[in-house]
Amino acid sequence: MNASLDSTIDWARVRADFPLLARKVHGKPLIYFDSANTGQKPEPVIAAVDDFYRHHNANVSRAVHALGTEATDAYEGARNKLARFVNVRGDELVLCSGTTFALNLVAYSWALPRLQPGDAIVLTRMEHHANIVPWQLVAQRTGATIKVAELDERGELDLDRLYALLTPDVKLLSLTHVSNVLGTVNPVREICREARKRGIVSVVDGSQAAPHRALDIASIGCDFYAFTGHKMSGPTGTGALWARREHLAAMPPFIGGGEMIKEVRFEGTVFNDPPHKFEAGTPNIAGFIGLGAAVDYLSALGMHNIEAREQALLAHATEELSKVEGVRIFGEAREKAAVISFLVEGAHAHDLATLLDLEGVAIRSGHHCAHPLMHHFGVAATCRASLAFYNTHDEVEAFVAALRKVRKLLA
Ligand code: PLP
Repeated sequence: MNASLDSTIDWARVRADFPLLARKVHGKPLIYFDSANTGQKPEPVIAAVDDFYRHHNANVSRAVHALGTEATDAYEGARNKLARFVNVRGDELVLCSGTTFALNLVAYSWALPRLQPGDAIVLTRMEHHANIVPWQLVAQRTGATIKVAELDERGELDLDRLYALLTPDVKLLSLTHVSNVLGTVNPVREICREARKRGIVSVVDGSQAAPHRALDIASIGCDFYAFTGHKMSGPTGTGALWARREHLAAMPPFIGGGEMIKEVRFEGTVFNDPPHKFEAGTPNIAGFIGLGAAVDYLSALGMHNIEAREQALLAHATEELSKVEGVRIFGEAREKAAVISFLVEGAHAHDLATLLDLEGVAIRSGHHCAHPLMHHFGVAATCRASLAFYNTHDEVEAFVAALRKVRKLLA
């Protein structure tokens, strides 16, 4: 990450776009350090959702009346904005409820009909449960096995060992772009190139990448890329799966219903073209219109500026946190997003998070939906402070001061 910051951006004004950040919690100014869990929403996103319900609410792709056309245009417009944001074509982007749905779509529509006993799937030690459990379900039903790529002491993938796992039995590799626990940024372009050379289909979980860096999915060289809208300042229940067109054409639908058909007869159904073939039922119309507004907002700031801002906050927070006695930081990858998992000697993660909450600091504690990674480190839980561009250096200082205070209470 070597983006440099545009010094003309007034980050205090940017922060003021996020109404929730002005509130107090337990009588203290809120310090929201849980953006890896879900991101806060700026005014234009809230306004776009509000405007849709006030002025345009109708179902999409069904009604010929004015509202129906407005809703459909806005919804399809949001798809195209999102596609441009990640540099792919709109008709290659399946809109869905988020990464979990997107990965399950690949598991059930691509992998389930293809895998058989003797085949293998490769995952990594740092995956979120959403990128483990669907593959386990597919493996159980097909007789395929799962192999796991391990990490080095910095929390980076051991690439030699990963490539050694990519033997001829491997049909699919699925890995995260950025770890939600360690912040490690994986070299997905290089890894997907190695997979492709060996005829292995690659899936990338971009949940923690899309909100924090300029994404050019087309240049990664993967077969599938999944991401989620609520972590990128958009509404919950929004996300997308990008897939190569040949996969979308060959895959059967995952769920059936309205919108995904051309013609239905009791003798048989003709499915709609991708991506609609995979979008049965009424979608989260307002949510995607909000996500379109989020993409406009992030684009106006510039993803390179967002990345540089977050890198500065990460460096500051890491330095200050490291000075606190008894702190152990998990994950010191050379390329890292603004996520810091840590523990304080002698204190339970949940106790720390609960006491920090009383100081107005919202961090996450627990296994972060990454049990295998917790096992790797031999811990049941960690605390995780995850930062976004709307956070401030003052908040970093206040967070560390609060941590020093609660550490003493727990000692
Ligand atoms: N993958 C990663 C790396 C994540 O961080 C998350 C969410 O925390 C998910 C997948 C699941 O995303 P969602 O719950 O939005 O489907």
